[in-house]
Amino acid sequence: METKFINSQSLPFCKGCGHTTISQNTEIALRKLGLKLLDVILVTDIGCHGIIDKAFDTHTVHGLHGRSVALASGVSAGLNNPEKKVIVFIGDGGATIGMQHLLDAAHNGYNLCVVIHNNMLYGMTGGQPSEFTPKGFKTPTLTEGAEHPGYDICALVTAAGASYVSRISGIGDISDKLAEAFSRKGFSLVEVMEVCPSYGVKSNPGMKLSKLIEEAGIEIKVYVDREMKAYETKIREGLPGLLSPALTIETEFPHTLDKPVRLFLSGTAGEGVQSAAELFIRAGMRCGLQVTKKGSYPVTVGVGFSASPIILSPEPIMYTGAPEPDVVIVTSEDGLKFAQKLIDNMQEDKLLIIDSTLGVPETKAKVIVHHFRESAGGRNAMIMALFEYLKQYRIIPMEALMKQFLSSKISANTKLKALIEETFEIEG
Ligand code: SF4
Repeated sequence: METKFINSQSLPFCKGCGHTTISQNTEIALRKLGLKLLDVILVTDIGCHGIIDKAFDTHTVHGLHGRSVALASGVSAGLNNPEKKVIVFIGDGGATIGMQHLLDAAHNGYNLCVVIHNNMLYGMTGGQPSEFTPKGFKTPTLTEGAEHPGYDICALVTAAGASYVSRISGIGDISDKLAEAFSRKGFSLVEVMEVCPSYGVKSNPGMKLSKLIEEAGIEIKVYVDREMKAYETKIREGLPGLLSPALTIETEFPHTLDKPVRLFLSGTAGEGVQSAAELFIRAGMRCGLQVTKKGSYPVTVGVGFSASPIILSPEPIMYTGAPEPDVVIVTSEDGLKFAQKLIDNMQEDKLLIIDSTLGVPETKAKVIVHHFRESAGGRNAMIMALFEYLKQYRIIPMEALMKQFLSSKISANTKLKALIEETFEIEG
């Protein structure tokens, strides 16, 4: 069966938007190249084009404005595998903001292909001009028209050392031209000229893309097509590379899971939430389970909430988020505030474990209240809560978590060790 890269019939763009043409032709181009879903990593930027990532069933990463090329360069260097196809979708606004990243990526020959969606303005924020807006082109905030021609990004990345660069008009079937760029090793870029009907056409009534391209003297052509050395990540002897080898832990304990269980741990920064989550998932690995862990906390790392969605599963985990967790564990006021919406939406089949200092919030979920902070202090409340969870729901044996605990630095805390042994009647 032919691989389907886009999972939706209707794409999230305004009628007539050039982004639709690019997305649909990207799917066709990827099929023509015989790529599989998990061979492709699509990195998108901020802008209307970026909302497409939900519709792509490949790996997708959504970057900050202008930073998607830098992000993709890191992904490409980390993968260090030319068989994987890293594609960047970026608008002319993002390319303006992140121009240095584009030049650096071309200069270093990172294995990736950038597709610039150049509709000559910032569509998502109401039609401000970018540095790619051609001379005379009007936008809602530049009604007299641009004074200067836009940057020729194709010439710039060619000079920086790209292996393949082309500018095309985004009308009709552009799949072969995209496939051409996708198939290259090293850095390639294709700039697709297109229109934003909502702001571009409205500000320039009667505008036709082909006429505009001709009048602005924008060249539609292949700028360069040459063999350049693609970036190769240096793996230093004896030191872990960018991607460490997969961590393998021998299966020593059984588990009782026949489907994934999703936990959401929510507490206060500096109170060991992330380390407790780490111990728990590693204990899961000791039981032969597949696991994922994410960390969520404010940029001011040491204050406010600290949360960790984790998944333990007998099957491979294809999606790491836990928007509707089966179990929410809350150990502090910060954690309660952060998890409040999740708690509000919990149904009867879910479980909330909460510290006794916080009261019991209104919820349909089953609730277990415990004195974790009182008995072990805030710093150790989460690891105590996880032992309590295992005591009541033996998805993995408490011994697996104890073994992981003993192999960690936290076990140097002899009072905590003794408390765990006494509370959970388990030998350390
Ligand atoms: S605002 Fe413009 S760029 Fe954004 S989706 Fe609509 S037509 Fe496309």
